[in-house]
Amino acid sequence: MVKINDNFLKLPGGYLFPEIGRRVRAFENPPKPLIRLGIGDVTQPLAPAVVEAMKKASEEMGRKETFRGYCEETCCAYDFLRFAIRDSYLERGVDIADDEIFVSDGAKSDCGNIGDIFDLDNVVAVCDPVYPVYVDTNAMAGRAGDYVDGKWSNLVYLPCTAENGFFPALPDRVPDVIYICSPNNPTGAAATKEQLKIWVDYANEHGSVILYDSAYEAYITEDDKPHSIFEVEGAKTCAIEFRSFSKTAGFTGTRCAYTVIPKALERGGASLNALWNRRQGTKFNGVPYVIQRAAEATFTPEGKVQIAETIAYYRRNAQVIRSGLEAAGLQVYGGVNAPYIWFRTPEGYGSWEFFDRLLYEACVVTTPGAGFGPSGEGYIRVTAFGDAGATAEAVDRIANLLK
Ligand SMILES: *Cc1c(COP(=O)(O)O)cnc(C)c1O
Repeated sequence: MVKINDNFLKLPGGYLFPEIGRRVRAFENPPKPLIRLGIGDVTQPLAPAVVEAMKKASEEMGRKETFRGYCEETCCAYDFLRFAIRDSYLERGVDIADDEIFVSDGAKSDCGNIGDIFDLDNVVAVCDPVYPVYVDTNAMAGRAGDYVDGKWSNLVYLPCTAENGFFPALPDRVPDVIYICSPNNPTGAAATKEQLKIWVDYANEHGSVILYDSAYEAYITEDDKPHSIFEVEGAKTCAIEFRSFSKTAGFTGTRCAYTVIPKALERGGASLNALWNRRQGTKFNGVPYVIQRAAEATFTPEGKVQIAETIAYYRRNAQVIRSGLEAAGLQVYGGVNAPYIWFRTPEGYGSWEFFDRLLYEACVVTTPGAGFGPSGEGYIRVTAFGDAGATAEAVDRIANLLK
């Protein structure tokens, strides 16, 4: 008889978004239309340059002379896209070789799958609060231990709260694998080069590896916040970087991302770039040609202008939320270098309690911070990915509630 992977049974079971959905559905006949500022999905359409590129590529696929089957090029990606990504790094002064770039169908897949190249005995550190993918994929692999009282017994939790500026201090127990997400989902905080340098030095010293998720780098507005961990000296010998077109160019439903593994990154005598290449070559056959052309179009002059306009739209939302909630007397964080605003619940309210008040009294759906980890208790996340009019209305409703 087959034995299943028991680790799946230890998972607390997709608690956060299903629970939000349950509460929203249970709210019958809301007095006003609900405004959803909960889930982190984009709402604005693809840039015209991207749509054009997809049309053109689709036509090519329909002609014998230009049809493409399996992608035979390096790292399951066409040169045109890898070179465009490489050049975009160079524009920021970061020199990445094109065969250090692996194109995939999502940063979520890569963040999850990267665990394949690491032993199950590694100690994994995650920030708290955290993007749940890092935790759950390690739990599924059997690397997290047991889930007891809201925490996994083998994970090292790095608290990120207002008290430490939402950036983790070095832990007592040395982790082998360290997830850092900057700009951060859910807190909206972005790390400085100096802050990252501490972790880069630490990882190099201890032989650890940093898994750096910069899915939101396009939202950075402050000059002292690096867009890539490879802007930090020493990162090429200790870090892997995950990036995505999802939040940068509205590709959440289109699916394209990339992961950078420098060839200088070696552990246990092996090149992690070579291991990942072997892993992807075995379990993945690349992103559709049409989608790679779409991704390439985000780097063209028109494409750049168009995606910048959409990002500016979300940034204005973030500004409206930030200033509105601050004026209403809330303690507000994030929203400057990220499309997430993270605020403290008013005195006496837990995350879920205040979530309920916002839902029932303002008809606004948010995300309770506690759903992202124990240190998220007492906070609420609001996203800037909504419609501008609805976002402004939601902020007014919350302000009225707090009067
Ligand atoms: C949205 C998001 C991603 C992007 O995931 P895709 O699979 O590329 O859509 C990655 N990391 C974080 C933290 C995110 O919030």
